[in-house]
Amino acid sequence: MAMKNYTLNRLSKTVFTTVAAGAFAFAAMPVFAQRPDTNIVKKIVAEATNNSQLKKMGHELLDGIGPRLVGTPQMKTAADWAVKTFADWGINARIENWGTWRGWDRGITHIDLISPRVRTLEGMQLAWSGNTGGKTVTAETVIIPEVADSAAFAKWLPNAKGKFVLISMVQPTGRTDYNWDEFGTKESIAKMKAERDELTAAFAKRIRNTGLSPLALANALEKAGAVGIFSSYWSRAFGANKIFGAQAKKIPTIDLSLEDYGLVYRLTESGQKPKLSLRADSKDLGVVPSFNVMAEIKGSEKPDEYVILSAHFDSWDGASGATDNGTGTLVMMEALRLLKKFYPNPKRTILVGLWGSEEQGLNGSRAFVEDNPNVVKNIQAVFNQDNGTGRVVNIQGQGFLHSYDYIGRWLSAVPRSITQHIETSFPGRPGAGGSDYASFVAAGAPAFSLSSNSWSYGTYTWHTNKDTYDKVVFDDVQNNAILTAILAYMASEDPAKASREPVVIPADRSGNPGKWPEPRSPNRKGGQD
Ligand SMILES: [Zn+2]
Repeated sequence: MAMKNYTLNRLSKTVFTTVAAGAFAFAAMPVFAQRPDTNIVKKIVAEATNNSQLKKMGHELLDGIGPRLVGTPQMKTAADWAVKTFADWGINARIENWGTWRGWDRGITHIDLISPRVRTLEGMQLAWSGNTGGKTVTAETVIIPEVADSAAFAKWLPNAKGKFVLISMVQPTGRTDYNWDEFGTKESIAKMKAERDELTAAFAKRIRNTGLSPLALANALEKAGAVGIFSSYWSRAFGANKIFGAQAKKIPTIDLSLEDYGLVYRLTESGQKPKLSLRADSKDLGVVPSFNVMAEIKGSEKPDEYVILSAHFDSWDGASGATDNGTGTLVMMEALRLLKKFYPNPKRTILVGLWGSEEQGLNGSRAFVEDNPNVVKNIQAVFNQDNGTGRVVNIQGQGFLHSYDYIGRWLSAVPRSITQHIETSFPGRPGAGGSDYASFVAAGAPAFSLSSNSWSYGTYTWHTNKDTYDKVVFDDVQNNAILTAILAYMASEDPAKASREPVVIPADRSGNPGKWPEPRSPNRKGGQD
């Protein structure tokens, strides 16, 4: 999730100026002076640079195992891989169960247009889709109709019987906005945008007029005897669609590429009665455990205080979950490897938390926070990374009044080649969601997001079918692993315990007093009725 660079309140503007690139001059803080062992820092940088394990790990995890949807066999395979990888480095790691989820295995999807012409279509089942019962199903298509109200839709519903139903709008252009901006005229761009807005509003109204929520609509189509549902969630990037979870229970739900969905839609609309054949071999696996992977280097002086390196391990499964959040995972694993090698006896305990089911609502980290109050009480710092493959460019103080002091102190040991890209803002505001640091912030623990630059994360890779190994920018990930390892080292060594004193949160627009986000319970029984 992209992080806004929060506007600071007046106090912080005068007292806590935004620390600009490379401007770390913390000599004026004698009380908490903290001298890093430059030898350790140098060794971390050299090992991360000359003997990086990122590509090896990235290939094993992203190519070899693949995506890590909660409830899938790949998530378990990946967790076993992580535990073994840590063990090979001499680091204790374990799988910690915190609940259950609906189990599912994706299997093959094969889709062909067979009439009026033959073309193999690009698409895939949505997560937790139903299957075609081991057969290939052939059927004609219908589009959700334009109706006046729910009664009219109920009257139409029998038309879905035996059909594949198209439930998404057709995109008027398969070109990205940046492509239009480069080659269109002012007039043609304006016309395209107006047309797209109009079509989007009209299709939203079409769905609304059925009187059904997306979930109820899928169930109604299934009940009416539709043999499958086709949708297309274009991500406004060439070739990229977002692949989320299916709503229908038994029949398959398929996302088609923008190009192929548009083709089928237009053929249907023009009365050519296109026929599709579909084979979808996913498997329902009943109920399976949901879990986190935890790795640990025990503290030597203050074993009951914790520095936590945090990244969610799970992903959506339209591709390999490379930048969401394979790269955050690799950063935390590589950082712990570096620490184990050059800082094997940390003052405080250093944990890596690779969380499960972040994508369905921060479930793994919320479970950890709920189940480990004694750890959470004694957290020195949490560093979380989860917004793509880019180098870290932003750290904000999450509403901890004195975060400027200690984050600044810790950053001062990081090479300038890394900090020069980082803008900080303090004390910031407590993040209420978006990624796992929020689970800790809500519990009052100093937790921070190491926020990346975008590399077109929101359109090209975030939850898309294009989030693959080749999108990883390894130089940036390496930069982040060094940053994280040094921050963890400094946080662990700090003579002082990081302050948790919160800022006074400004009142909202209607004058209600500002509130710190509340801790929330995880979903420990996911995808089950
Ligand atoms: Zn993520």
